[in-house]
Amino acid sequence: MEARNLIGGQWTDTTNRTEVKNPADWNQAVGTIPLSETQDIDKAVQAAWSARRTWKGLGAVARGNILFQAANMLESHLDELGLLAAQEMGKPIGEARGEAARAVAILRYYGGEGSRSLGEVVPAANPSTLQYTTREPLGVVGIITPWNFPLAIPMWKAAPALVYGNTVVIKPAELSSLTAYRMWEIIASLFPAGVVNLVIGQGFKAGEAVIQHPLVDGISFTGSTGVGQHIAETAVARGVKYQLEMGGKNPVIVADDADFELAVELIVSGAMRSAGQKCTATSRVIIMEKIRQEFTERLVSQVQTLSQGDPSQSNTYLGPVVSQAQYDKVMGLIDQGRAEGGRVLTGGTPIGGPLAHGYFIPPTVFDEVATTATIAQEEIFGPVIAMIPVKSIDEAIDVANGVRYGLSASVFTRNLKTAMAFVEGIEAGLVRVNEETAGVELQAPFGGVKASSSHSREQGRAAIEFYTHTKTVAIRPF
Ligand code: NAD
Repeated sequence: MEARNLIGGQWTDTTNRTEVKNPADWNQAVGTIPLSETQDIDKAVQAAWSARRTWKGLGAVARGNILFQAANMLESHLDELGLLAAQEMGKPIGEARGEAARAVAILRYYGGEGSRSLGEVVPAANPSTLQYTTREPLGVVGIITPWNFPLAIPMWKAAPALVYGNTVVIKPAELSSLTAYRMWEIIASLFPAGVVNLVIGQGFKAGEAVIQHPLVDGISFTGSTGVGQHIAETAVARGVKYQLEMGGKNPVIVADDADFELAVELIVSGAMRSAGQKCTATSRVIIMEKIRQEFTERLVSQVQTLSQGDPSQSNTYLGPVVSQAQYDKVMGLIDQGRAEGGRVLTGGTPIGGPLAHGYFIPPTVFDEVATTATIAQEEIFGPVIAMIPVKSIDEAIDVANGVRYGLSASVFTRNLKTAMAFVEGIEAGLVRVNEETAGVELQAPFGGVKASSSHSREQGRAAIEFYTHTKTVAIRPF
């Protein structure tokens, strides 16, 4: 597959391209992607700027109807998109197909937003004056996305941006641009020229050109905390609205009275699906000393049953990580975990045999991890669990909060008092009781606190807060 840019309704090429290899087998080429230059981004932003008045003028109901049509069109390509994502970035095909289905559901949800209320009537001091609020689009929104959800994340930003009347310039991550390209290729013809623009390329060049462009009125970013901070500084200097969703170091607390079977199942799923490459992945298991031995044995034996291999096969639970850089980073953190006193209970060593030509990391469980250890503090973004023993729920909540991130957190307990203490004390945007840290729902607000987020929220109705501003209108009949 040869991905191209979408600029002003035309599929366009660039001077430079780069090849994409399958992370499950680096000898297998999957396609090529453009490496856009600043002038490509300029053309895309100009096109979005020129289209913005007409798109706004179309009205929300008509825009919502276009999203419904896009959902129907995309729905007949779920298998194709799932397979492409599996080949390009290593997500097991079942999960990847599920992500494509989520993009469809997001389009339907925001299609419905086109028919919902945009404001309220507010009493005015003069009783004959009609005072009301309405929502206005920002204008041109720059959308910068990571590689780990190539379908759902661009869509959960673009769909609300579009239905509320913005035009968009989307810069997907280099490591999953083929999948993003194919999704937009399927539905692009539904949108008037210039409303949706897709520019593919490197972050420091193409991404930077989007965030710096004087005609970009808002920036929605998901990715690493370091890049997010740079985007925040740029947006503040330019005086434009921005929204950041970034890293996580998500804890699960297992209380003495937890349902072991449920907790093991959802910890393994939260930590190991997508090879741990989710911002909401379970990364730390904070466990009561009293149940530690029995629970840990059950967790480890469950982890040892996971099938690891080719992500395009439907029985694969765990694929590779996305790239050599990601492989080196995760294996480096595993080595550091050992050096800092953690005990590897399973995994932790490179995989050979038939998987030797891919970036496969064995599912790894560490025990006795100190709260100050790097693997207890920093996002790993790989299939690694750090078990941290504690003596009480209060201590567990303190340990859970003792990191710079605050995205998702869970507790497993049958005790309502423990659950309520956790909900009250935990510093996280997504707080879950007897639920996985990952697996959040598109109709509910999504986002974190601390270094995980700019404290804004995405998805559900919350998206209107970023993609619009409020206009307060007073009309005196005369
Ligand atoms: P990344 O920050 O390296 O890249 C994200 C995007 O930013 C890419 O499109 C990249 O090209 C672009 N970019 C890089 N430098 C840029 C610059 N100077 N200007 C503009 N754009 C630039 O992140 P990644 O490695 O693609 O993704 C992994 C990270 O994303 C993890 O930290 C993960 O936790 C986070 N993530 C967060 C969420 C969430 O909702 N909180 C969801 C998924 C992933």
